[in-house]
Amino acid sequence: MGADIIDGKVFAARLRARIADRVAGLAASDGVTPGLAVVLVGDDPASQVYVRNKGRQTVEAGMHSEEHRLDRTAPEVELLALVARLNRDPAIHGILVQLPLPDHIDASRVLDAVAPEKDVDGFHIANAGRLATGRKAMVPCTPLGCLMLLRDRLGSLDGLEAVVLGRSNIVGRPMAQLLLSENCTVTIAHSRTREPAAVCRRADILIAAVGRPGLVTGDWLKSGATVIDVGINRMPGPDGGTLVGDVDFASAAAVAAAITPVPGGVGPMTIACLLANTLTAACRIHGLPDPEGLTP
Ligand code: NAP
Repeated sequence: MGADIIDGKVFAARLRARIADRVAGLAASDGVTPGLAVVLVGDDPASQVYVRNKGRQTVEAGMHSEEHRLDRTAPEVELLALVARLNRDPAIHGILVQLPLPDHIDASRVLDAVAPEKDVDGFHIANAGRLATGRKAMVPCTPLGCLMLLRDRLGSLDGLEAVVLGRSNIVGRPMAQLLLSENCTVTIAHSRTREPAAVCRRADILIAAVGRPGLVTGDWLKSGATVIDVGINRMPGPDGGTLVGDVDFASAAAVAAAITPVPGGVGPMTIACLLANTLTAACRIHGLPDPEGLTP
């Protein structure tokens, strides 16, 4: 194995500490405490774990945290009314509606009901449009975390070939937009791409976000590539099984220069970037400059 491991756990811990410092500074200088409201509909066990972790890390960063739970059968109007109330609440700067939502609720309608300036997930159509047109936006947390890891590893990304595997609105598309803004030459590959291995072999930077365990093997990579594995796939086994990424770690690490592990790579960055976005939202809402190093 030749590749350096990009340790997202360590990076995310440093980032959270920096955010906590700035939150304390903001309270002291401007009397503002950033507040995050997380809304959970239903009792999906994985979502409950995510929501608990988000709440705990928000409080640890010195922010105000609220959790709102609605029954699985709650009608869409009830959820929309809650979002409208949080939009008006001056103690709340970030609103996150935990996905997935039950089938009877139109997720797009709910996400677009969140005030764009409080949309810390960056899923509102206005923020997606702003990102796509190169304007100041709230940026989805997972791609923002990937960008931070890449900048830390590579410095300037100017002129590099980047391939993004996956085109979801949550990861692939915003990731490609961010890399384009960094002056990468960007290719997006997806399930209909004819020769994904050949496309990936062009990449100085490969982002894998497909949800297919071990899809990307060493022979898909250019020697010396930087590989960011966003995939989180649970494999069956004792004690709840194991988590693996979209990249076959052993074969990829023999070819790449640097690679994120799963777990411990991109995963911890996502919540850290949610805290970063909440702080950014609070600064913008109060007319203060963006916190340094937390936005693209
Ligand atoms: P998604 O909405 O299911 O999108 C998957 C994308 O991968 C689609 O664009 C799909 O193409 C493409 N794809 C599927 N099979 C493919 C194949 N064989 N070859 C090439 N492309 C293929 O998933 P997502 O929400 O983006 O998530 C992707 C992965 O990242 C999942 O494992 C998820 O758990 C993980 N994730 C991790 C974090 C984190 O915090 N680390 C956050 C979010 C997601 P089509 O569009 O053609 O169908």
